[in-house]
Amino acid sequence: MLNGKVALVTGASRGIGKSIALELAQNGAKVAVNYAGSKEKAEAVVSEIVANGGEAIAIQADVADSDAVQSMVKEVISTYGSLDILVNNAGITRDTLVMRMKDEDWDAVLNTNLKGVFLCAKAVTRQMMKQRSGRIINISSVVGVLGNAGQANYVAAKAGVIGLTKSLARELANRNITVNAVAPGFIETDMTDQLTDEIKESMLSQIPLSKLGQPQEIARVVRFLASEDSSYMTGQTLHVDGGMYMP
Ligand code: NAD
Repeated sequence: MLNGKVALVTGASRGIGKSIALELAQNGAKVAVNYAGSKEKAEAVVSEIVANGGEAIAIQADVADSDAVQSMVKEVISTYGSLDILVNNAGITRDTLVMRMKDEDWDAVLNTNLKGVFLCAKAVTRQMMKQRSGRIINISSVVGVLGNAGQANYVAAKAGVIGLTKSLARELANRNITVNAVAPGFIETDMTDQLTDEIKESMLSQIPLSKLGQPQEIARVVRFLASEDSSYMTGQTLHVDGGMYMP
């Protein structure tokens, strides 16, 4: 399905990003596994892809650092000769009520979760325009449309990702580059592992399908958006949340 394609997945050393990297590789893409923290974990993802007969490299870069992002994109292109798919997955949370939220908590979350998407999209655009094709897939969140008490920074960033997706989609459509977003609900990863049982139970009560999602359930939708099967879709947000949000 993705044979010959080259994908860059940010924040791919664990959780949803790791699943996306494995899924794209399983479908034939060569994958650049971006990481900010643990080199060992990123290399473990690369090893898993290679063991399954795929091709991958690990590249360290903070998505909020413009120079680092540009070097990362250059490295992908010099290694594989093209860049067809960008998945903006890297994200962090710094949850607290607005009245207690420090400026640094706001800035850190907006820088990684929104500016990071802008920087990575900007860095791949020239190459994709030259190729006259490309797929950019941004990971937003259900809370980006619903709002969430205690997550104003995260929600603002994830709502921003949806707006950025629509603007990029309009800017890049005439070069055959599609830009779509995926808005996961509550997915079982290290990010949601930090939540208390009480919060998890309250989440479950809001999910019509009555269960948390798995990273693979997001990865499969990303694979669809990365493939030719989604060729006539751009500027869309796909809600993969067990029915939490029904537009
Ligand atoms: P996670 O914390 O397990 O993974 C996030 C990854 O991003 C980590 O590998 C981390 O190292 C990386 N990262 C963080 N800051 C970075 C930076 N500056 N540069 C590069 N990489 C960086 O979280 P996850 O649950 O797998 O979340 C993945 C994405 O899905 C995030 O954007 C998150 O906001 C979004 N999301 C998650 C859920 C959920 O329920 N888990 C729900 C909705 C949206």
